[in-house]
Amino acid sequence: MRYVSTRGGNPVTLDEALVSGIAADGGLFLPDNLPSIAWREFGAAKDIRETAELFLQPFFSGSSLENDLPGIIRETFNFPIPVTALPVPGGRCSLLELFHGPTAAFKDIGAQFLAACLSRLEGDTEHPLTILVATSGDTGGAVAAAFDERPGIRVVVLFPNGRVSERQAHQLTCWSDNVLSLAVKGSFDDCQAIAKEAMANEALSARHRFSSANSINIGRLLPQAIYYAHASLQHFLEYEREPSFIIPTGNLGNAFACFLAREVGLPIGEIILATNANCLVSDFLGGSDWEPRASIQTLASAMDVGNPSNMERLRYLGGESAELQSKVRAVSVTDEQITGQIAQNFKEFGFATCPHTATATHAWRMLDASEREGKDWILVGTAHAAKFEQIVEPIIGTRVPVPPELAAILSRPQRFEVIDATIDAMENALEVRFGT
Ligand SMILES: *Cc1c(COP(=O)(O)O)cnc(C)c1O
Repeated sequence: MRYVSTRGGNPVTLDEALVSGIAADGGLFLPDNLPSIAWREFGAAKDIRETAELFLQPFFSGSSLENDLPGIIRETFNFPIPVTALPVPGGRCSLLELFHGPTAAFKDIGAQFLAACLSRLEGDTEHPLTILVATSGDTGGAVAAAFDERPGIRVVVLFPNGRVSERQAHQLTCWSDNVLSLAVKGSFDDCQAIAKEAMANEALSARHRFSSANSINIGRLLPQAIYYAHASLQHFLEYEREPSFIIPTGNLGNAFACFLAREVGLPIGEIILATNANCLVSDFLGGSDWEPRASIQTLASAMDVGNPSNMERLRYLGGESAELQSKVRAVSVTDEQITGQIAQNFKEFGFATCPHTATATHAWRMLDASEREGKDWILVGTAHAAKFEQIVEPIIGTRVPVPPELAAILSRPQRFEVIDATIDAMENALEVRFGT
């Protein structure tokens, strides 16, 4: 299989797409021809690893990693991804829990998969690959955890200083020498702009062998499609009905992965994107022009994105506004509504939900009763509530128990530099740490 940029140009191999992250023309990679997945033959797939092998084979055909796929999958899917039925009065609704990995957010899955691929392809102790990752909170921790101490690979994490939760900050800054954590005086969009500019700078990029691990990397997207494939298959096998998904959305990587799974044929019904008050996506799907804006800060901070990168992929595959509107919907959720959901979820479901996951429960509760009860829903839980205890605990009035993986990370010492939001400041910090 070959991969093409959303902006045209010549096709590349999967290996090239994984290593370069972003296409030379600034576009994002996608398969040149989407395979059609014969999922009915997956009936026998016993677990998510088997689903992953069947699903990924066509995407990896011709890649030098093709034979390593089982090992890559084993390194990635090494924690449970349960689908938990929710006690709802009518209809069928469950929670896809993507937050049982090392940093307690769904991004662990994409990050571990990409780390497993890149270390096989590009690990080089003489001239290390440098992964640049801009993060609104969760990506950086997941990527740092996935690459920590991997030989021949460095990671530079750029995060908005003071705009991530304390526990998130800890996860961004407690790693070994090969991970450089930079607190940028600016927003997530500033961090993303620095990363993009650095990678577009050929001289700098060649010197440091820059690569990306943001959700723009195809190696993050493919494994994310797998949990949608597996959850929808299991659901279909059990109930003979397609589940619909509601997905907390920021940079649109997770939701796009669901879209991709449906495009290649998996039994997925509706896809609803739940955003926070950054309502660009819902405005666009409501008919407005696509006009990226500065992001605003919300309680669901990992979704504070003013210019979601993966919209370029969604438009490429899904078409422009009118056509796209018939394929996906979007709901924007305010901070008051998030707060209300955290309280209501605790009362009705009996457990705490993180502010991001709360946007999905809100979108579900906002559905017409006929739709809410007439279709089967899977809400996507993107992070563990314990990561956002400063928001969640005052609302529910009790402590959220810290899962053991998170506790292990929080006991490690922190190390980071605060820098100005410029590429020069980043380069300087890089030279101080790595001496190149
Ligand atoms: C990153 C993140 C999101 C948004 O996912 P995208 O792929 O950027 O749309 C939602 N919730 C949590 C907890 C996240 O970390």
